[in-house]
Amino acid sequence: MRHTLALAGCVLLLATAAPAAPNPRPASDELAAALGTISWPRMVEDIARLSSPSFNGRQTGTADDGRSAQFVAERFESLGLLPAGDRPLSDSALGLLWAQSEAFVAGSIQAPALMEWTAKEVTTSPRLGPDFLPILDSPSASASAPLIFVGYGISDPAHEFDEYADLDVRGRAVLFLRGKPEGYAAPVTHADKERAARKHGAIAFLTATGPIISAYDIRRGIGSAPTALHSQSSDERPLPGAWISTELAEQLLAVDGRSLRETQERLNRQRNPLSAPTNVVLHLAWESRQEAGTLVNVLGMIPGQDRALREQALVIGAHRDHFGRQAGLLFPGADDNASGTAVLLEVAKTFTGSGLAPRRTILFVSFSGEEQGLFGSRLYVGKPPVPLTQTVAMLNVDHAGIGNGRLTVGLTGLSKEGATEAGKTAGVAELLDLYGFFPGGDHVPFKEAGLPTATIVSAGPHPHFHQPSDTTDTVKPEILERAARYLFALAWQLANAP
Ligand SMILES: [Zn+2]
Repeated sequence: MRHTLALAGCVLLLATAAPAAPNPRPASDELAAALGTISWPRMVEDIARLSSPSFNGRQTGTADDGRSAQFVAERFESLGLLPAGDRPLSDSALGLLWAQSEAFVAGSIQAPALMEWTAKEVTTSPRLGPDFLPILDSPSASASAPLIFVGYGISDPAHEFDEYADLDVRGRAVLFLRGKPEGYAAPVTHADKERAARKHGAIAFLTATGPIISAYDIRRGIGSAPTALHSQSSDERPLPGAWISTELAEQLLAVDGRSLRETQERLNRQRNPLSAPTNVVLHLAWESRQEAGTLVNVLGMIPGQDRALREQALVIGAHRDHFGRQAGLLFPGADDNASGTAVLLEVAKTFTGSGLAPRRTILFVSFSGEEQGLFGSRLYVGKPPVPLTQTVAMLNVDHAGIGNGRLTVGLTGLSKEGATEAGKTAGVAELLDLYGFFPGGDHVPFKEAGLPTATIVSAGPHPHFHQPSDTTDTVKPEILERAARYLFALAWQLANAP
């Protein structure tokens, strides 16, 4: 099917769509039949495809972003969705209006990226990946400097905690732990710590998760391995830096006979700075490159069938982007978020394949720009093809492929009763863990705009989160099926509510 309509957004299309009588709610057996068509092999195939080297980790603003957008647009078309974007995706043979795009600069760390450390005249070369990973928006590095441990890296005299007090780090590299001491109330971000290091004259930094991890972070799957991180301190000149493994941080402190665990325990307990030199000289070397490109969201639509409700829309989204290839390492992003993209496609297929027409319009959106700061969903909220005042809710699905078999659902502005009811329809009510606002993800700009949201993620640990090991073979098919069944049932409910 080839669409040649020159659409000024789908509002026009909605106004000219053939009128239809309100669709009577289908008998529950029709809904059950539709749910029964949801099946994991297609989803696993899509995940394998999107996380294969041919899409190179789908980094926002790169050609891989555009090619993965093309893949999703072609799937939307073959499933029978209608275009809903504001400009052609590309000058491709398709010439379809599936996309929403904006300029985006893609930064990447070139291979080889080197780290070495010297202590007592012995030089050690940690492994890229398991032992260290450059911060992804780090500038080029060419540093050799003594390393100073600065605890959690906090410099906050207003709250009487300054880990740089009485310390000269000018021309030095600093090592700080992620997070903050237990009971330390003021918020502190990685960007704050980088700013403090720069302000005190440091020329590079290392960061590591401490050996003492909170129960909350363990549930989130945070472990000792370095993971992909953008420091997002774009307003200033960033420092070159790397995330190192907890084990490597322990080794670096052990040079001077210190225990990282004991140090972290003391910092958490008494909150007195324990900053000190390490007797290690750190060497970092890599090149960082910036290239101008385009961020691409892909939008596909199922027009609503109810004369009174079809100008209202339900948005269902999943981000498609991931971290690309960094320092020569491929970040496949199978669980994050090829899984959500596959679930989105499966739910779209369930709608169009079943012939069950929703009363309201449904917009399926494949977002880019999520990993670096929700740029794609912010673009959508700033230029929505259906006005936000006419949008009933946004459903987001993200890293929905591994874990303990249950589904975590974060709700804002939607009732737990309704969410549970959808779980019953989908046959997964016993497997739902319902919460309030879930921090982080493409639902956030919608929530900030005042819309009801639900975000669906698979519950339990995601041990490969933001690592090169996030590969298709770690994905569990039955979890994908549950997520797709639930998303379909919830979407059906919201698209047809009176
Ligand atoms: Zn994600």
